[in-house]
Amino acid sequence: MSGAERLLPLPDVDTAPFWAAASRGELSMQSCSVCHRLRFPPRPMCPSCGSLDALWESVSGRGTVWSYVVCYPPVLPAFADRAPYPVVLVELAEDPMLRMLGGISDCPPDRLCIGLPVQVWFEQLGEGLSLPQWRPLDPATRLSGP
Ligand code: ZN
Repeated sequence: MSGAERLLPLPDVDTAPFWAAASRGELSMQSCSVCHRLRFPPRPMCPSCGSLDALWESVSGRGTVWSYVVCYPPVLPAFADRAPYPVVLVELAEDPMLRMLGGISDCPPDRLCIGLPVQVWFEQLGEGLSLPQWRPLDPATRLSGP
């Protein structure tokens, strides 16, 4: 461990429901009350119709790797001990325009590819704070774990 402090997400008025759901092990997205489009990241206005009204909706937590990079040093000091490490951009199953960045674990480097089916899991970062992460949906693809 490098000893460097990892920066943690700071929930605000727009993102607090997302982080509260994550702390319960749920992936939740804003859903526009007018056009019903899901959106991410959380924000006050629907990018499709301009409505300021939204609800929160749990989604499956499944998707496919749309793209990825492997981060090599130099990286932020808190991540130095992890490098090199992959970061994936996941296209969620509910909408191909709904994409989330995150880490991927339990995935051998030679199996990581665009189109890999993945499932969310939640990394506990501290009291009431969990970060969505990804791992291969197919257990046979994983390095270890359930
Ligand atoms: Zn809308």
